[in-house]
Amino acid sequence: MMGVKEVKLGVAGFGHETISFWPGLTDIKAFERRAKHGGEVIEKNRGTNTSIGGFIDICEAEGVELFSVCDARGGATAIVADRVYDFYVGEMKREFKRVADELDGILLALHGAMATQSRQDPETDVVREIRQVVGYEMPIMVTFDLHANKDLAILKEASAIFGYQSSPHIDAGETGRRAARAMLATLRGEIKPTMAMARPGIAGATVFSATTIAPMKDIIARLHEWEERPKVVDVSIFFGFPWSDVHQVGMSMVAVTDNNLELAQEVVDDLARLAWDKRKALTGRDKAVLYSVKDGVALAIKKAECASKPIVILDFADRTGDTTWVLQELLAQGAKNTALPCFYSPEAARDCYEIGVGSTVELKVGGSTGWLDGGPVKVEGKVLWAGEGKYIGTGPMSKNREIDLGITAIVDVDGIWLQLITHKAQLIDEDPIIQFGYKTSDFDVIVSKSKTHFREVYEKVGEEIIIVEAPGQGTADLSIFEYKNVLPGVYNITNK
Ligand SMILES: [Zn+2]
Repeated sequence: MMGVKEVKLGVAGFGHETISFWPGLTDIKAFERRAKHGGEVIEKNRGTNTSIGGFIDICEAEGVELFSVCDARGGATAIVADRVYDFYVGEMKREFKRVADELDGILLALHGAMATQSRQDPETDVVREIRQVVGYEMPIMVTFDLHANKDLAILKEASAIFGYQSSPHIDAGETGRRAARAMLATLRGEIKPTMAMARPGIAGATVFSATTIAPMKDIIARLHEWEERPKVVDVSIFFGFPWSDVHQVGMSMVAVTDNNLELAQEVVDDLARLAWDKRKALTGRDKAVLYSVKDGVALAIKKAECASKPIVILDFADRTGDTTWVLQELLAQGAKNTALPCFYSPEAARDCYEIGVGSTVELKVGGSTGWLDGGPVKVEGKVLWAGEGKYIGTGPMSKNREIDLGITAIVDVDGIWLQLITHKAQLIDEDPIIQFGYKTSDFDVIVSKSKTHFREVYEKVGEEIIIVEAPGQGTADLSIFEYKNVLPGVYNITNK
């Protein structure tokens, strides 16, 4: 099919979303628990809605041989230890060097919002270090999350970059397919990828990055208009991740054209202008949509009385998965028939597991970090379920993936269905409820600590979404954080 010799591509993945203000470090254990190495990268990602799953779709259909090194992802937590970077990037360099003569190109699935102890833009460094062993002739194409913080440095290292165009990230697989198609078109000599980037200088909380609603919905619509233009190969808008204290924090837009730098610049300048016009809505400076925890919980309980579907409370500011602000308010207001799934509380989950289903337990749940988390809460309840929380995902983002919540327990705390988990996860689909024998429609109120991913499922499952802003951690009000590395002129951080 290629009209050239058989094609062989290198594949690797590495990602983390770093919250610089989270105390402590994210170490290798957080990555290795789910990391894949060697051929496993292909076996475990095939058929999944991930970027690597997308690479595999296209490459296997086109008879391309894949050489995979590793795929390591550490979630969204504290600053990454330098040794994590050294470990995985060392592995990539060693393996790609070994087969450099055989490779025609490399496809990387990175995240783009990682920060390590000594690196503010480690994922650009990944590409730069791989270049040291394969040179600058070989095409390297990279997928990034929509929440990547990127600046011009990446344009020097990558041949082309591709970002998710949806938040919820239901298009991670398609993003991988976009990159793989562009790689093959490049190798066939059909296109010469040429990139431009614009950075409007905007950083806002990720709750405002939802592409199912304005303002991002409108900006993405404009992106798709540009993609229709001849010679435009691909367009990405990176919303950015504002809790990484890095020099390149914030929004960027990237266009890939076929050998037309002027057109690429025109596309990104237009998108940057549009974003700048909408900067207030992109950063929540028009705060009308956010409720206090107290008001939001009261409203949810009231609305649930005459709703035909569950009312969804979105507690977006929880970064650790175990803040107790909403739980405390649910208890104080006597909420009934309310689900609080995916609540990180390993010790309490184990206690329930040991005491057994049907028993009454006294537990201390949540607030494990002591970082703006509301503190642990004492509860008493009946254990409804306890065991290993392992299943194969069925949701739009998790399909065919092995999901492991670790030891999991469900406790009825005076009408609150509290699900305690050992490995951090967010409620983004129905699985954490239905895989345990319950239905989402069983509940009057459901609490999610997602940001935007839950929307793909819960805009349909829920009657209404009530967004509450809890104190601390990941609030929309970025003025509470002490940034050290952000450059002047970033709207909502250094330009207020
Ligand atoms: Zn993201």
